Amino acid sequence: MVRTVFIKKSTLDHITCYCMKKKPYEACGFLLGSHEAETIYADEFIPVTNIAENAVKSFVMDPAVMIPIVTNHSSHVKPIVGVLHSHPTAASIPSAEDLYAAWLHIPSHWIVSLQHDECYDIQVFHYYRNNFDDSCRTGSSDKISYAALTLKIFDY
Ligand SMILES: [Zn+2]
Repeated sequence: MVRTVFIKKSTLDHITCYCMKKKPYEACGFLLGSHEAETIYADEFIPVTNIAENAVKSFVMDPAVMIPIVTNHSSHVKPIVGVLHSHPTAASIPSAEDLYAAWLHIPSHWIVSLQHDECYDIQVFHYYRNNFDDSCRTGSSDKISYAALTLKIFDY
């Protein structure tokens, strides 16, 4: 399981700048980089247009932008290591809706909170299906849990 996430300083700046620019709407996109056993290195952010009807409180990625990225038919050759979205007015913790819509095969989920104007807060989580104690129930009762990852910045 992933424990630590490294992000390039310029990529972090790109993310925060983009999320601020999209406020009051939620911003979303992918992080590209590399993934080793317990460590993710993220060094590129690809914004994806949010086409949600209620984009102030949710996000739906524009398929026209998203599909080429997730199927590797874009100009980006690095693997997807994270999914990111912003919470313009809420804390950087996953909402019930975020967990429901989780892409569990992507190893990290990033949330940028802009609730305090001049000071963003970014948190990274690993989402996983919590099957523990669920052996005699059906799939519909599966719960998604999350664990916070350590985020470190690198600059080279
Ligand atoms: Zn959210």
